[in-house]
Amino acid sequence: MAYTIAQPCVGVKDTACVEVCPVECIHPTKNEANFSSAEQLYIDPVTCIDCGACQSVCPVTAIYPNEQVPDQWKNFIDVNAKFYQK
Ligand code: SF4
Repeated sequence: MAYTIAQPCVGVKDTACVEVCPVECIHPTKNEANFSSAEQLYIDPVTCIDCGACQSVCPVTAIYPNEQVPDQWKNFIDVNAKFYQK
């Protein structure tokens, strides 16, 4: 299981979540070359330890445990995972 970043992050990319993630599995960070071109931030589901820290700091309520992602954003589970399969 993992957490997923959904639609509300698109165009926002606040990065509060990046600061609090204990395993650094949210990318791109502001220091990475692809930050400006990324539509949103993404969680690496393989590395995520399900701690929930990112969810509580997100200013736009974009982050959910996979089993609680709202139906209209379920596709973002794959969107997050695919970012790390490139
Ligand atoms: Fe990182 Fe925890 Fe959020 Fe997973 S749930 S992305 S480990 S802060």
